[in-house]
Parts: sequence; C-alpha cells; structure tokens
Amino acid sequence: MVTRSAPPPHVTQDERSRAKRRTPTPRPPSSTASTPLMKQYLELKEQHPDEVLFFRMGDFYEMFFEDAELVARVLGIALTSRSSGTDGAYAMAGFPHHALDRYLPRMIAAGHRVAICEQTENPASVRGKRIVRREVVEVVTPGTLTDEKMLDERKSNYLLGVHLPRRNAKVVGLAWFEASSGRFRVAEVPFSELTSELNRIGPAEVVVADRVYDEGMEAEERTASGELIAALKESAPVTPVGDWAFRAKAALERLCERFGVATLAGLGLSDKAAYIPAAHAVLHYVSEMKPGYLDRLDRFGRGVELYQPDAHLALDPATARCLEITRPLREGGGREATLLGAIDRTQTAMGTRLLREWLLAPLREERAIARRQDAVQALLESPAAHEALSKSLREVYDLERLAARAASGRASPRDLAALRDSLARLPKVQAAVRQAAGELAPEDQSSFLPEVSAPLLLEVCGRLEPLAPLQAKLAQVLVERPAASPREGRILADGVSPELDRLRNATEDVAGTLRAFQEREASKTGIGSLKIGFNKVFGYYIEVTQAHKDKVPDRYVRKQTLKHTERFLTPELKELEGEILTARERSEQLESELLGTLREEVSEAGAQILTTAAAAAELDVLGSFATLARERGYVRPRLHAEPTLRVIEGRHPVLDLREGHERFVPNDAELGGEAGTLHLITGPNMAGKSTYIRQVALLCLLAQTGCFLPAREAEIGVVDRIFARVGAGDELAQGLSTFMVEMTETANILRNATAQSLVILDEVGRGTSTYDGVSLAWAIAEHLHDAIGARSLFATHYHELTGMGAIKPGVRNRNVAVAERGSEVTFLHRIVPGSADRSYGIHVARLAGVPPRVLQRAQVILDQLEEGSFDPAAPPAPPREERQLGLFPDVSEDPLRARLRELEVGNTTPIQALLLLEELKGLLD
Ligand code: ADP
Ligand code: MG
Repeated sequence: MVTRSAPPPHVTQDERSRAKRRTPTPRPPSSTASTPLMKQYLELKEQHPDEVLFFRMGDFYEMFFEDAELVARVLGIALTSRSSGTDGAYAMAGFPHHALDRYLPRMIAAGHRVAICEQTENPASVRGKRIVRREVVEVVTPGTLTDEKMLDERKSNYLLGVHLPRRNAKVVGLAWFEASSGRFRVAEVPFSELTSELNRIGPAEVVVADRVYDEGMEAEERTASGELIAALKESAPVTPVGDWAFRAKAALERLCERFGVATLAGLGLSDKAAYIPAAHAVLHYVSEMKPGYLDRLDRFGRGVELYQPDAHLALDPATARCLEITRPLREGGGREATLLGAIDRTQTAMGTRLLREWLLAPLREERAIARRQDAVQALLESPAAHEALSKSLREVYDLERLAARAASGRASPRDLAALRDSLARLPKVQAAVRQAAGELAPEDQSSFLPEVSAPLLLEVCGRLEPLAPLQAKLAQVLVERPAASPREGRILADGVSPELDRLRNATEDVAGTLRAFQEREASKTGIGSLKIGFNKVFGYYIEVTQAHKDKVPDRYVRKQTLKHTERFLTPELKELEGEILTARERSEQLESELLGTLREEVSEAGAQILTTAAAAAELDVLGSFATLARERGYVRPRLHAEPTLRVIEGRHPVLDLREGHERFVPNDAELGGEAGTLHLITGPNMAGKSTYIRQVALLCLLAQTGCFLPAREAEIGVVDRIFARVGAGDELAQGLSTFMVEMTETANILRNATAQSLVILDEVGRGTSTYDGVSLAWAIAEHLHDAIGARSLFATHYHELTGMGAIKPGVRNRNVAVAERGSEVTFLHRIVPGSADRSYGIHVARLAGVPPRVLQRAQVILDQLEEGSFDPAAPPAPPREERQLGLFPDVSEDPLRARLRELEVGNTTPIQALLLLEELKGLLD
C-alpha cells in the first residue's frame, strides 16, 4: 500500500503550496465530509496532494473536485457534477476500469502523476454500514514506469537521484535507475559537468532532497542549490523527497543491506562517494511509488554499475542539440534528421537503446575504441557471418524488458513465448559471432578467414547465455502461440501435466456428450434442426425454430422466445452443463497455477537473462556499425593521441543519405599542427558552412564510439570534449537562443575547452550589432587560438575576422567555392582555402539584376562603414577604387597579397587553382 504518514516525508512546503494552488474547487475537510465514502476519498487524497487520484468504485475509476476537472480536460471525458447535502455541488468524472490502459499513459504523457486506488477487499464480504476498504496500490510517475505501453522502446526511461553534498559544493552524486529493466548506475561528477551528464542520461524524472529548496543554508551552498535546481528543471520533472533519504550514513547501511554486502567496496563502489545517498534516495522513492516491486526485481541480483565520466567524451546539452545527435533541432524534423536516425541499423529495440547511449557517451581511450573497431572490422570482413548475425538478431525480442517483467512476476504467456523464441536464436548468434571473430571455420569454405582478431566480439559472445535448459523447458511446455490467458485459450501444451490433460479430456468428452445429447433429442422429438446453444445469461439451452414449435415436448421448459426461434432448458441439460463448467473451470485454474510456477522458474533466471540481453544489445550495435559501413562505404578511422585531425572526402552522415541532384559533395578537413588549429570559414549564405563544421564534429564523435566514418580516409586525434554553438542570429538557432544564451554558452567553452578539445562555432556573435558582434567574435577566436589551442572551426559572415589569417600562425582561412554562370550562382559546397569575397552580398545583388546605381551606392556605404566614415546625412560620394579593412587596421595588407600569401600551393588542386585565379582577378577589379 502506498501511504504517506502525516506530514508526508517527501512533500515539501513548495510542493504543498503547489498542490494548494491547483485547488480551485472548494472541498470539505475530511472530518466534516457528509458520507463515509467521501470521507475515505478525502483521506486518501490528503496523502496524495500532488497526484491525480484514480479512485476505484466498482467497475469504474472516479475522480472528484479539481482532479475531475483536470482529467476531463486532459482525457476529453465528460465532467459531471454531483451534489450532496452538506458538501454542496462538486465536479466528478470517471471511466470504466478496463479503459485504464488507454487513459493512464495519456495522463503521464501530459506530465501528471497518478495515484491508483483500488478496492482491496471483496465488496461481498463487507457487512453493515462499513464501506469497502480502498488503498492506493501504486503511484505512476514518469520516472518509475514499467508498463511497456507507456515506454518508448527506443529510449531508456531513467529515474535519476541527484545528491549535493553539504560540505563540498564542487561535486554531485548521481544514481540512475530504470525500473523497467533494473539497470542501475552511479557516478560522482564535478558540479561543472552536471549539465553534460544530465544530457547524457536524459532522465524521465529527477529526485532531489527537499533541503535544496531551503532558504536557510549557507551562501555558497545556496548558490549551488539554485544552479542545481535550474539545471535539473531543464532536463526533467523534478520531485523533491525528504532530506533523510539522502543522509549518507543511513543510506550506506540500507544499501549494504539491500545488496547483501558488508561494504560497498565489494561492488566496486566507494562507501563515501556522493552517489551513495543518491542511490539510496532513488531506491527509496521507487519502493514508495511501487510497493513490493523492488523486492521482486531483486531476484535479478543485478548490481550497480559505476560510471566513469572521465572515460567518456563530454558533450554538453547545447552541443548535443546543435549536432542533432538524438533530437532534431527544428520542431517537426523527424528522427531521420538526427545522427541516431541516420546511422541506426540495429535489429532490436535493446540495440537501438544502447546505440543512443553510445552516441551520447563516446569513448576517450584509444584502446577501448580500437576494440570496438576491431569487432566492426571482423564483421565487415566476414559478410556471411555478419549476415547470419543480423538475421538471428532480427528474431530476438526485447529480452531486457522481458526479463524485468518476468522477474517482477508480470510476464504474460506471450512474453514467455517471446523469451522461448529469442533464446532459441542465441546459439546461432554465438556461432555467427565466433565465426566472424575467426574462432570457427566458416561453413562456406570459399569465404576467407578474417585477419583481424576481435577479442571484444569473443568477450561479449561469452557473456551471452542461451540458457538451454530454460529454453528447452519453455519449448516443451508452451504451445506454439499461447493465448493471452487460460480463459481465452491454450497456453500449456498437452502432456505437460497429466491432471491438466485429464481435465481437458473431460471438457472435450462432455462436449462430445453434448453433441450426442443434441442428436438424441433431435431424433426423440423429430426436430432435425434442433440445436444446443450457449449464452451468458442462462448457460446451455435447446433452440428450436418457430416452424417446429408444435413438436416441442412438455418436459422442455421455455426460457426465451425470439423472432424465429424459441429456447428451452431440461434438467438433463443443466446437469451436463454443470459438469462441463466445472471441468473447464478446474482446467483453467490448474493452467493458471502451472503458469505461475513457470513464471517463478523464469524469474529465477532473471539476472542471467539480463546479462544476456546486454550482450545481445552490444552485438547488435557492433553489427549495426558493420552494416552501415558496408552499405554506405564507411572506412575505419585511424586514431591517435596527437591534437590533429585529417579527413579526406568526408561526408555529413545525415545529409549523405540524400539522393539525386542534391547529392552530397564530400569535403576534406585538416586541423591541428601544420594545418593550423583555427579555421575561419566564410562564404555566402546557404553555401554549406554550417554543414561542413558540423560534419567534422560528427565524424569525431562517431569515430570515438567505434563507428566507421563516411570518408575516403580519416585520422582522428582523440578529443576530450566537443563543443558546438550556433549564434543567436543564425536562422538555425531561431527561437532556440537569445544573445544572452549564446554568450553564456560561449563563456562555458572558453572556460572548459582544452588543447585536446574540438570547438565548432557557427555565426557566434551574430546576435548583436555588427561592431559589437565582430569585436566579440574576434576576441573569442583569438582566445581559442592564443590561449587554448583547441582544434576549432569558426563559420562566420564577419569578413573582418579573416584578417586574422595574416597575423596568427595557427589561423587559416577557408571559404566555400561558388560557380557563376551568367546571372546564375551555384554553390559548389566545396571548402577551399582562402577567404570569401567580402562584398559577396553586393555581388549577388548585381547578378540578381539590382540597378547599377543602387549597387554603386551600396559599395560606397560598405566602404565608408568599414572605414568608420559613414555619414547618413552626407551627399552620395563617388565610389572609390581601393577598399580597406577599417576595423582592424593592423591587418590592412593589400588583399591580393594577403590572399596569395596564405595560399598553400602544395595543397591546391587544379580546380582550386582555377577558382583562385578567378578570385584574384576579382580582387583586381
Ligand atoms: P550556410 O551555413 O553556409 O548558410 P548550410 O550549411 O546551412 O549553409 O547549407 C545550406 C544548404 O546547402 C544545406 O541545407 C544543404 O542542403 C546544402 N549543402 C550544404 N553542404 C552541402 C554539401 N557538401 N553537399 C551538398 N549539399 C550541401
Ligand atoms: Mg549557416
């Protein structure tokens, strides 16, 4: 039973006042309620002020007062009003109990918490004035979902506990738990990394100590709490719980007890870490919301995994958003617009979930990455084995969530059949993987043995446990396609239980007897068309058409007259009926019992099924990488520790999928060392600047997940963090950020980027006035180059920045090639050395047919603006021959010379040389 003592331990002042605010309809205090039922309702409601209470009354769930109004609004069901003597009129809404499956997910999706109150005793046993006992049996919240109907199979659903230690505001403890799979992880991270980790975990709900809302704490702690709450609210609904659940000492004791250890060191955890209280709070919260659930789930024996943030590439939320890793930037952009959508070739839902996690947590250790690459390569080099792996995995169900349902005793007969069929595929999965890893000779002798040994494949394969005895048992006892319940049909096969067979035979025998009875009666009465029928109201009956009415004997008792037929009973028929129903009832009951035992057996294997599920998911993702590589011609990048990067003919993984005339144009990228650390990319609007810089970031990210790359060749120096920012003025960022946000995010880069990081800036500085923006952009670029030395790509329309190329050793100018034919401009989407023509806008205006006078005037204003001599009141002056960069005089070298100086002849292709000639000629005019 879910109850909360008064005052409920984890309902804070904040929550309570929120609950009060939500109460427009007056309602009587429970002590003065006029009816016992209302009194019972109000008492339960008082314990769940923040939940919508689904109050079971017979076959219905009813809601009252403000809950009724809310539910009527969210679910679109009728709102009625009920009046009673002393309570006045109040709102009421309800729906039949079987509609819970339909309505509950909608309430949760709309962001509400629901307390489900059931009748917990049989109404028939209630005597006198007492009313039936009702209790809240479960509280459904976004972070504690277990029902697959409410879960997205492609996404994990974590409840995250966050602990802010009292005396150390520099770290936070995190613990995240998925009730639907039992997966449990903990980590201690620096406070500054909190938002990155929140982004990675993507919790469905967060629990935090109510103390962080307190005002009476020390100043430093108060600041940290404020930041904490703000960060958490960004990521998921936040539920405050009683501070006591986060007390370190008690938490440690209870956790040791729960996991049956004397010290958590045995689980690889530290007793003193900040994640201990968080872990306790999470388990405590789940056990309160879902009484008994954890005890059943404990059979998993699934331990706690310690997550090491340092082993992973850091991605803050702004970066993940900008790179569209799992979510599209624009509303309405589909999953295909995301990196995940574009590269996902997994065969199972578990695989998709794991791939998402891998993309949000790329690795940082060369060896760990290489292990994955070896596995992908081995699969790629043995096509037959790879194909066999994909094919077998396609027939494996969501073992992870199946295992959780089995362990918590909720596996349906169909779940058991799915488990049986999935386990049956695993030996084939193993054989395929062993073959790819070179351990087994290929069946097809014509294919060659792979050269690469892939220890990771063998290791994961070793974790896969086909549970042969359990599989054999399931195969033996279940029918091919079991019914949903014993009432609806067969689940267990014949021969499983002699008693069940006997009862089933009896049922069938009586059915035979029934047929014999029908034949006998037909011949006795001479009514050939006499039939035996069945309905729920009066069971078996004899049916005679009106035409033969006169032949009906007296011993028949008439029950019903219909238009064309009459229905009768006889004592003999009633007796037969009794036999049939008893046999059927007993057989159903026995089948249910046997099913329960089977569930028990399956749940004992819960832990092994989960380990197996995790291994299958990993093989699925590795296989998906290999499929992608084969399909799209991806290559294995070479990884190293130098802060450089070289990609030849790289493609954007998402846009690469486009076909036809919009076919993607590959581009090279070389950053770091000789190639310069900071590239400034200029060029007209829509030329492909944003695409290019994102492409480079995405390729680094993919390389570090172990995935191959869409390129002809690639060498990546492992990066520690990727930062990506879009300026507030850019159309891509519209509605997403303001200049303030842009600067906050940029500040974060400048504080946290290292010489090992990759930074991409897209039109940063655009969100403010020109001079302001140029100045900021200049200073930011300068800092990245001079002080940090991170590999950086800066796409900008501020031409002034390109002056930096002439004075900073590590800065290079790049622009996007454009072909001009007559009045048509075509963007070639090719990145070439050099900076774009700064008066490109005027150039385009000329091609578009804007009158020469207007163009000339625009040119003059441009020159004057850059010189700082623009005077709106002055009469138009004639255009001047020579233009100068006014804003940064120290770089006012003749543009022709500057352009030639930065040219790297050795790196220039013939086409680029031609384009350059054209550009130089343009500069002459
Ligand atoms: P910019 O940032 O320079 O304004 P974008 O990067 O937003 O330009 O690109 C504009 C459009 O050009 C994109 O929507 C894309 O369809 C197309 N594009 C960009 N790069 C390429 C490329 N390499 N090959 C083909 N099309 C491209
Ligand atoms: Mg752009």
